Amino acid sequence: MRFISTRGKAPAVSASQAILQGLAPDGGLYVPEYFPYLSPQQLSRVTSYPELAYEVLSPFFVGDELESSLAEICVEAFDFPVPLHWHDDKDSVLELYWGPTAAFKDFGARFLAASMQRLLANRERKLTILVATSGDTGGAVAAAFHKRPGIDVKVLFPKGKVSKRQEKQLTCWSDNVQAYAVDGVFDDCQNMVKQAFMDTALVKEYGLSSANSINLGRLLPQMVYAFHASMEVLTRTGKEPTMIIPSGNVGNSCGSYWAKIVGAPIKNIVLSLNGNRPILDYLKTGIYEKRPSIATLANAMDVGNPSNMERLTHLFGDFTSFAMEVSAHSVDDSTIRKTIGDVWEKHHYIVCPHTATGEYVRTVLELEEPTVVYATAHPAKFNTIVEPEISTEVPVPPQLAQLLDKDSSSKQIKADYRQLFT
Ligand SMILES: *Cc1c(COP(=O)(O)O)cnc(C)c1O
Repeated sequence: MRFISTRGKAPAVSASQAILQGLAPDGGLYVPEYFPYLSPQQLSRVTSYPELAYEVLSPFFVGDELESSLAEICVEAFDFPVPLHWHDDKDSVLELYWGPTAAFKDFGARFLAASMQRLLANRERKLTILVATSGDTGGAVAAAFHKRPGIDVKVLFPKGKVSKRQEKQLTCWSDNVQAYAVDGVFDDCQNMVKQAFMDTALVKEYGLSSANSINLGRLLPQMVYAFHASMEVLTRTGKEPTMIIPSGNVGNSCGSYWAKIVGAPIKNIVLSLNGNRPILDYLKTGIYEKRPSIATLANAMDVGNPSNMERLTHLFGDFTSFAMEVSAHSVDDSTIRKTIGDVWEKHHYIVCPHTATGEYVRTVLELEEPTVVYATAHPAKFNTIVEPEISTEVPVPPQLAQLLDKDSSSKQIKADYRQLFT
């Protein structure tokens, strides 16, 4: 299997090469040259999540350097539960937050780290990973790469724009992980990373690589839970579910679109957005315009120019096909707050602000078929927003409690990428 650039001006590469490079040399994002098809029958034999991951991912690693270690990587990366919580006979929540940093980013980050470490060991190379984060990516990447030999990590986050507990997860690592509090918004952080990658001397000197959701190694593993959840819903209800996905850089949803094409029994995919809605405006007007990001309660989705949009437009080809496959709804902050309270009242279940956008969209859609809302983070990461709406304390899961106990440190810098290398 080879991977091509969305911009079509770079040579096709193997999965391992795409993982090591991050961005393609023409500035595009790597996508599979074609999609294999996996039948549900073929997958019904599996007995564990890592086995499912192996079955779903192995066609993408045929002939690759990592082919023979893929099974082991899946066991190492996916060592936490992935439960589907049922509100009733029809509607469920896919809890993607039982990894070490309590957000779905752990799936991609852990798979990427396990893969990169093996690739580097084969090469005697050192890497510096740059990661811009609007909240959860940085923590997941830092946790996944912490103390991995030969790999340094620089995490950039917008100062004062992530929750206290998110910040703690970015800044508690030390050793090979350095956190930078950038004077700016998430888009500034993302631009700094992009600029650093355009500085070819720097890329070479530091062996720069990316761990943002533009990296193929983050995207591929995000297909697996779409299979896992849709197969469980099909088994339990006899129907294919619609997946509702709280989205920002649309990496999570892109993984699910890929899964659907590869054969996951999914009826439709709907994106729930916060007030950052360039995708919704694109669907309405046919014109895609990036926007400055605006701060919302669902801060990990505060993205004005979703980096994986390029993968989605490449996948669907033209606007008409895009608009047939993609639908989106925007949810404002007051509705997010109200939904957290409503879900608690109705189901005695606590959701984070991101997941709340999905829960709200579920009530708007009123679908006949089962719906699965992706719970992208544990509500305890956003206790200051969630607790007033439910008038009770959110229990802190053990993995999060452990991180919150550590010391933290970060460097404050201006939004200039050169300050990352002084
Ligand atoms: C990253 C993140 C999102 C958005 O996911 P994308 O892949 O960027 O669309 C949603 N919710 C939470 C909690 C996140 O951390």
